[in-house]
Amino acid sequence: MIVVLTGGTGGAKFVEGLRQVVSAHDLTFVVNTGDDLEWWGLYVSPDLDSITYAMAGLLSKERGWGVKGDTFFCLQAMGELAEPIWFNVGDRDLAVHLLRSKYLAQGKTLTEATTAICNKLAVQARILPMSNSRVETRVDTPVGDLSFQEYFVQRWYQDPVKSVRFTGATDAEPAPGVVDSIMSASAVILAPSNPATSIGPILAVADIREALRQTPATVAAISPIVNDAAVSGPAAALMAAQGLPVSIAGVVKAYEDFLDILIADVRDLEAANKLDRPGLRVHCANTIMRTADDKAKLARTVLALLSAENARAADPS
Ligand code: GDP
Repeated sequence: MIVVLTGGTGGAKFVEGLRQVVSAHDLTFVVNTGDDLEWWGLYVSPDLDSITYAMAGLLSKERGWGVKGDTFFCLQAMGELAEPIWFNVGDRDLAVHLLRSKYLAQGKTLTEATTAICNKLAVQARILPMSNSRVETRVDTPVGDLSFQEYFVQRWYQDPVKSVRFTGATDAEPAPGVVDSIMSASAVILAPSNPATSIGPILAVADIREALRQTPATVAAISPIVNDAAVSGPAAALMAAQGLPVSIAGVVKAYEDFLDILIADVRDLEAANKLDRPGLRVHCANTIMRTADDKAKLARTVLALLSAENARAADPS
């Protein structure tokens, strides 16, 4: 079983690549829930949705989130009723939020609700929220302490970031299945997701981070930072606010206590040669995923590296 820790857009692109080259039955996803929000009275989990839609073949490629070909009639109607509409929810997407909220109101956990939704969408991979308790990413800015979606979607991530914290993380337990799957994985992959606010909340759950340290599986990460910049979104500002250099060295630093392999972009070959961390293997590949083919190629490269690593571990001679 391959275990993938992931967030939203960057992570979902890589997940679309994996979907093309590995059987869904061999994949378990541990997904960030730090971006979750209550919207129009519904429980919305944007990263769980992106990964679910990616594995169901439903993800909108143009937007990188939500359901392909979706309409936005409800959003428009809510605007006409003077309700907030800064968080975009498509009509088909809304159906999933309604269903999840119904399950949660019936007393199901987020894990159970996610499994039920996956079953309805014929997703055969195992998709796990990182935790069933609420861990919330908060971004401290000069205009105030914002939820991740207020910072990212409502305010277009334009505010300077003073700090990032994950409320509830100290007491949060990993969701059922998360630690077991990491401990028994054939390999663990950290998708090219934002290290600060997509992978960061997952690692803030102490028992998950500990499982990554303890697992006998090789742990590989694909860098979301290329040429000292984020490929998209606010990762650079958020990493800097956490004291991490905005470079592949910063990605290594974020994961330094458990990372075995870094897959950096070919554009970072020089920086990769300068990385000096005993035990870390660094490989360069094209990590920019524009087409379905790019996504599949990157997934194949990562899997080939991991199986070579496993073969080496099995026969060190
Ligand atoms: P989000 O922050 O919730 O949208 O989701 P993610 O954390 O999964 O995705 C954002 C991260 O993905 C950013 O840090 C980007 O730099 C990274 N990213 C996006 N597209 C690509 C890509 O094609 N290649 C690589 N290497 N990173 C990417």
